[in-house]
Amino acid sequence: MSRKVLTKRRRGEIQAGYAAAWEDLRLREQRSLNVGVGGFLCAMTLGYFFNGYFMFAVYAVVALWFSAPVAEFRCPRCGKRFYNNGWMINQWSGRCLNCGLVKGSDPLEE
Ligand SMILES: [Zn+2]
Repeated sequence: MSRKVLTKRRRGEIQAGYAAAWEDLRLREQRSLNVGVGGFLCAMTLGYFFNGYFMFAVYAVVALWFSAPVAEFRCPRCGKRFYNNGWMINQWSGRCLNCGLVKGSDPLEE
């Protein structure tokens, strides 16, 4: 993608699309972390009073449910899953596992 052929308006649209995608990913990751940590503390507390194995099973299902949107996040450049390239899943990666786009990057500063 050449910078010279893009109009100023089109460049703004592309940048806004990437910014919205990174914000969406940030919210998905924040929600997953909140449920992961908060849910674990709740499961530990409730496990003291009720069946601990059952509470841990409920926690595991809920934590997996809320981590799925992070795994399903699509890269704004290539459109494939950001943290999954078919044979490898790495949700701590700072780059798209398919095209190498750096997380949070500006599309026009590459
Ligand atoms: Zn990509």
